[in-house]
Amino acid sequence: MLIRRSFIFVVCCSLPLFALRAADDAPAGKKEKPAPTEAADPGITFDWVHVDGPYIAMTFDDGPSAKLTPKLLDLLAQHHIKATFFLIGQNAAENPELVAREAREGHEVANHSWSHPNLAKMSEDGVRGQLRKTDDAIKNGMGKSPTLMRPPYGSITPHQKKWIHQEFGYKVVLWDVDPLDWRRPGPSAVCNRIAKNTRAGSIILAHDIHPGTIEAMPCVFKELEAKGFKFVTVSELIAMQTPIPPKPSPSPKSSPTAKSSGSPKSQPATSISPTPTAQQ
Ligand SMILES: [Zn+2]
Repeated sequence: MLIRRSFIFVVCCSLPLFALRAADDAPAGKKEKPAPTEAADPGITFDWVHVDGPYIAMTFDDGPSAKLTPKLLDLLAQHHIKATFFLIGQNAAENPELVAREAREGHEVANHSWSHPNLAKMSEDGVRGQLRKTDDAIKNGMGKSPTLMRPPYGSITPHQKKWIHQEFGYKVVLWDVDPLDWRRPGPSAVCNRIAKNTRAGSIILAHDIHPGTIEAMPCVFKELEAKGFKFVTVSELIAMQTPIPPKPSPSPKSSPTAKSSGSPKSQPATSISPTPTAQQ
């Protein structure tokens, strides 16, 4: 099992990751910042969400793993934390009971392709097949289709984002905190990287197919809870999105009508202003 996972990891994750580092992959575990505004697809792609409150989303990719995911689910339950799982379709098809358990326990389950290819290099039909089969496997496990997808390696073209959103209704979810846990740096490094880089609205990337990642989680949860963060699913985080206030302009005259909006206390902003926000 381990050998197989390692093989998948080597084949699917390592090689393209280096090639794609400049694309959507988060900057190497250090300075995660909101991506620059991309007006092309506001409301479709998210790597971070502007929220009024200490809300964050923990995400786990590449599972479910028959061996490790149940341990993670136990830990999440102990901490009353809801997470989001981006599943590989073939793993979901092999472990429908784990898909069902994830959903039953209040986690969000989402599409991470069937076999973890680089979608940006595939034909439209190839991508469609990857997403459709995975959607079916997830539906078979939890009884309904997911509403989010995450492209392997964060690799996806602007055109793909659009038609995938139109055809599947998916939002495209990336991340802003990347502990590089797939390199297996050890649980304490994973914990420190996440604790150091997480901020309100963060979407944290991790993988529930590496033992060290699962071992890191008690520390991660403790550290983030101690900082006052509250865990929600990605869809919940997106639903809490508030517009980013305009940067204070240096102009001396400020319009009297532009009075600051008194903070709308924990009121989820469901209607977003038409101004494009920083999520891409
Ligand atoms: Zn992945």
